[in-house]
Amino acid sequence: MITVDKALKQVYSSAPELDPERLPLDEILGLVLAENIVAPEDLPPVANSAMDGYAVISADTAGTSPDAPRTLTVLEDLPAGRWPEMTLREGCASRIMTGAPLPGGADAVVRVEWTEPGRDGSVVIRRAVPAGQDVRPRGEDVRCGEMVLRSSVLLRPAEIGMLAALGYSDALVFPRPQVAVITTGNELVDPCEPVPPGCIRDSNRYSLAAQVNWSGACAGPLLRVRDEEVAVKEALRKSARADLILTSGGVSVGDFDLVKDCLAQSGRIHFSKVAMRPGKPLVFGEIAGKPVFGLPGNPVSSMVAFEIFVRPALDQMRGLPPRPRVYGELAEPVRHKPDRRTYLRAQIVSSDPCPRVRPVAVQGAGQISSLTQADVLAIIPEGRECLETGERVEILPLWRRWEEQAGPWTA
Ligand code: AMP
Ligand code: MG
Repeated sequence: MITVDKALKQVYSSAPELDPERLPLDEILGLVLAENIVAPEDLPPVANSAMDGYAVISADTAGTSPDAPRTLTVLEDLPAGRWPEMTLREGCASRIMTGAPLPGGADAVVRVEWTEPGRDGSVVIRRAVPAGQDVRPRGEDVRCGEMVLRSSVLLRPAEIGMLAALGYSDALVFPRPQVAVITTGNELVDPCEPVPPGCIRDSNRYSLAAQVNWSGACAGPLLRVRDEEVAVKEALRKSARADLILTSGGVSVGDFDLVKDCLAQSGRIHFSKVAMRPGKPLVFGEIAGKPVFGLPGNPVSSMVAFEIFVRPALDQMRGLPPRPRVYGELAEPVRHKPDRRTYLRAQIVSSDPCPRVRPVAVQGAGQISSLTQADVLAIIPEGRECLETGERVEILPLWRRWEEQAGPWTA
């Protein structure tokens, strides 16, 4: 039996980053950037108006007020998208809309509500404005040559907007890992099928595929096989094009638990038991250089083992750095069998000043309700028997996307 830490180290060293590829902007949401982006130009590229109003020479407005307005001659209309033809000279203004380039000579904008129409198309200015008023200077957002996005950043809507604004139509990214999911068990039927006596619904197929997709990877193919060596090996062959393979079930010590042997014969095994609860009978190895996890069949064990080992592997394959460690306090004492590290399903009962977590009442390895009720896994270290209320423990937030895990929870 191997410790969780050693097992995780092995997983990290067997799940390298995938080769980056160039993809169009509309396909990169949630992927990780594989290049540094240096701004090729200023943003905005020219000074422009932040308001609808009149582009002016600010000195022309000096001393104006509702009681002492000044009339300026309007030279032209500048909607967004039109390049100015006239340069302002003293006593002149151009009508300008938000986003339109500022005409030459102008150094400020008087908002439309601070003006009123004058005679013969002129404008009456009723407020003095300083230079720079409601002007967006060239390069105020991004300077040409500035590093705007670094390799390994997660591409969220804002990053994609930045790339588009700077003229990129594609980006070099780490692709989404393709993950095969093979559930094994003679007793398994699909959720939509009638359940013969003694059989159960194949929930792991769906929970694991959902965890894969939730992790920013892509689940498929999804295969279910009986506890027969030929069938398991055939499914492994069918999964050869995936970047990572997950199997569920058949890794304990029963007569029909033949997955470990099949994995060993199809590739090699790095470890096959981890000192953790739930999820001890976890097999990890590789087939043709690709990571393979033989997850236990118990629904909670498989999902917890996924969170502890598969998600970090997928993160690394898709170019993300390890997630920050997060800590909380126990809201009640915990009595613990110290032989293995335990992942208690727990709820957050309060968050101020740090998360306080209470283990949910059900903790069985087959009780999916323990996971639907849980917000986090509270990690009870090996070697500890009695933990008291208020004690600090590491927690693993569940069902959260990567970027939401940073922030005030981070220790
Ligand atoms: P195993 O690891 O194959 O011995 O399975 C352990 C327990 O998990 C047994 O009660 C199985 O019926 C159950 N189990 C195995 N595979 C699945 C699955 N795909 N969906 C739901 N439960 C499963
Ligand atoms: Mg089984």
